[in-house]
Amino acid sequence: MSTTTTGPTGVGDRVHPATPSASADSALIPAYLGGTQPLTRTPVVGTPSTSLAPMFVPGAESVNPGEIRVTVLGSGDPWIRRSQASGSLLIEVGNPEKDFFFFDLGSGSLANFTALMLPVEATTKVFLSHLHADHIGDIPGLVGSLAKSGRIDPIEIWGGGNEDPDLGLASFVKHMGKVMAWDRASLQGVRPTSGFDMVGYEIPYDRPEVVYERNGVTVSCFPAIHGLNGAVGYAVEYAGLKVVFSGDTRPCKHVVEAAEGADLLIHECFQSPAVFAAVTGLPLETALQITSLAHTIPVQMGKILDMTRPRMGALWHLDVTPGTDAVFEEVHASYTGPVAVSQDLKVFNVTKEAVVARQAQVNDAAPPVHGTSHTEP
Ligand SMILES: [Zn+2]
Ligand SMILES: [Zn+2]
Repeated sequence: MSTTTTGPTGVGDRVHPATPSASADSALIPAYLGGTQPLTRTPVVGTPSTSLAPMFVPGAESVNPGEIRVTVLGSGDPWIRRSQASGSLLIEVGNPEKDFFFFDLGSGSLANFTALMLPVEATTKVFLSHLHADHIGDIPGLVGSLAKSGRIDPIEIWGGGNEDPDLGLASFVKHMGKVMAWDRASLQGVRPTSGFDMVGYEIPYDRPEVVYERNGVTVSCFPAIHGLNGAVGYAVEYAGLKVVFSGDTRPCKHVVEAAEGADLLIHECFQSPAVFAAVTGLPLETALQITSLAHTIPVQMGKILDMTRPRMGALWHLDVTPGTDAVFEEVHASYTGPVAVSQDLKVFNVTKEAVVARQAQVNDAAPPVHGTSHTEP
């Protein structure tokens, strides 16, 4: 028997009996403080066609055909902390190839990736929203350490260009190769080193464009407003489903356009300036500058969600604190639909039938898992 819940948002959602529900007492405890529930009052939108365990356990569920699974590998920011890895998403699709893609790879995100028990050989596709350190900090580990773990196929990296070639993705990839030269040379004659190879695809920063089409998956980029030209967001489409990732951006019409018909919109959101100053220790003036010049705050987020109306919206890049609940009130001033706050190892199962948010229950000491390669060692 299914039940219907109506949360404080006024949104009534069909809840499958075996799927998680938002308990008023436990739902909003951050995972790093022992919380086991996703940070949302609406963890289930629609009616899942299959039963899902209350928590996602890596290795226990494959991505089904026609499904996209999104796992937040890093939900934090430049303040490197154990509570939240820096920015990164992992998007898996249910095609026969079981493709998965990194979107950004901030510090600490690879530790969360390893805990998902996916094959290191397949860590070959990275889409970067921009080149701030909190979105690229684990790239050297991906190149060097995961090559040591067993990846022998080259890595493909997509990212925005810039009017100044020195600031574009191609320059980043070229110099990253040089940075890793000592690591690579040290393995000569000991381990295959082809996993250190990188192929960079510099993509437009000033217009939407399809940048990837393989195995039933399409990835498009679109301009974001953040720092310098070169910041982009992405839309991933597979099996009639669409997941949109804003990257870092001020409120931006390109995100709104890309998010039309999105099943899941993961949009960056910082706290309002006063809260941001309090949780980071920054002066209020600096917090005001950061949030107004380069980012989106909750009241704006509510308006963006109201314009785009995804099946589920997720705030990302937000300092998760025990008082994070206040963010929902700010968002709900403009929008009362399903919305979640991202934290590390939050998992979204996206299907035609439902969008479900859960937390993952992982083994912190999980060893690397192995799959197949296309390159001969
Ligand atoms: Zn940034
Ligand atoms: Zn950032």
